[in-house]
Amino acid sequence: ERHEVINFSPGPAKLPCQVLMQAQKDLTNYNGTGVSVMELSHRSQDFNKILTAAENDLRDLLDIPSNYKVLFLQGGGTGQFSAVACNLMNLREGQTADYFVTGCWSAKAAKEAEKFGKVNYVLPKSNKYTSIPDKSEWNLSPDASYVYYCDNETVHGVEFQFIPDTKGVPLVCDMSSNILTRKFDVNKFGVIFAGAQKNIGCAGCTVVIIREDLIGQQMSNTPTVFCYKTQVGNNSLYNTPPTYSIYIMGLVFRWKKEHGGVEAMEDNSKQKSDMIYKIVNNSSGFFVCPVDKKCRSRTNIPFRIGSQDGCDVLEKKFIDEAAEKGMIQLKGHRSVGGIRVSLYNAVTVKETQYLAEFMEDFLAKHR
Ligand code: PMP
Repeated sequence: ERHEVINFSPGPAKLPCQVLMQAQKDLTNYNGTGVSVMELSHRSQDFNKILTAAENDLRDLLDIPSNYKVLFLQGGGTGQFSAVACNLMNLREGQTADYFVTGCWSAKAAKEAEKFGKVNYVLPKSNKYTSIPDKSEWNLSPDASYVYYCDNETVHGVEFQFIPDTKGVPLVCDMSSNILTRKFDVNKFGVIFAGAQKNIGCAGCTVVIIREDLIGQQMSNTPTVFCYKTQVGNNSLYNTPPTYSIYIMGLVFRWKKEHGGVEAMEDNSKQKSDMIYKIVNNSSGFFVCPVDKKCRSRTNIPFRIGSQDGCDVLEKKFIDEAAEKGMIQLKGHRSVGGIRVSLYNAVTVKETQYLAEFMEDFLAKHR
């Protein structure tokens, strides 16, 4: 490993060391071209190879069917909050979309969609975001153009353990913080998107996977750069794509394939998150995770120390002592406080074990 630091950041997050070493090697002279990847024309053959390989590797990893297109765009997950609405709101008359709001990211997506059409909130309103209400409480509209949800809420640590049944209405999913951490059936979705900076690569690129038949019904005022039809028609090259981010992504996809693919990532993800939740659950209320056990995230684990509202002194001590041991980025999001442990694919079981041991020690000392 490269140094003594373990990065538990929610994103931009840790990248596999092998990927960084390869990037370093390619930095000034990519593949004998005499120039850096950053200096390659996005229309050059060399870059085209990078783009094609990245797409093919992602298709392999997620088993993406041929009737789905893959885009590599700019604008982040936030850009897709708007793009989804512009491109899909028109699918049905009435321009209504159903939104599951289970945390701050789906809340932001719904708010953005309100600019472009009618948003129906599927779940009873709440700002606690600690559970996913039972099906009996869902209010799906009969004429929705699409149904939207966020598979894993990065700040609140709420993750769906099932795919909502929309009775044929196209399903749109934000998988920014858990894509490639478990197997799922792409056929169940209309659109899937994910920002790169957590589980896929470095910031700058957003992957969009879209079912062919949903392309082409965008609203007339859709910004061209976000128009799925235009970007698909130009193989993500309508405008200059984030070339370096796509290159890093390609290296990460290859690394995942070489390390057992999504199946192995899923095993690791379960092992790592189980390790941390076990300590939380057995701490007799010293570590408190507010999230319902049925929907606890495997990739982002928020908890308080000392009580449900947390104890500032203990939480600060935890973060400081962890940092002294080289474990960084454990501070919870400012909106929820406390601690957050992010366990994306590049964080190893061994690194998680190290944190687990620290948590056990901390518990023994301060309980
Ligand atoms: N969705 C989720 C689940 C996220 O965690 C984030 C960012 N942390 C976003 C969307 C927004 O992504 P970006 O900052 O790339 O716009």
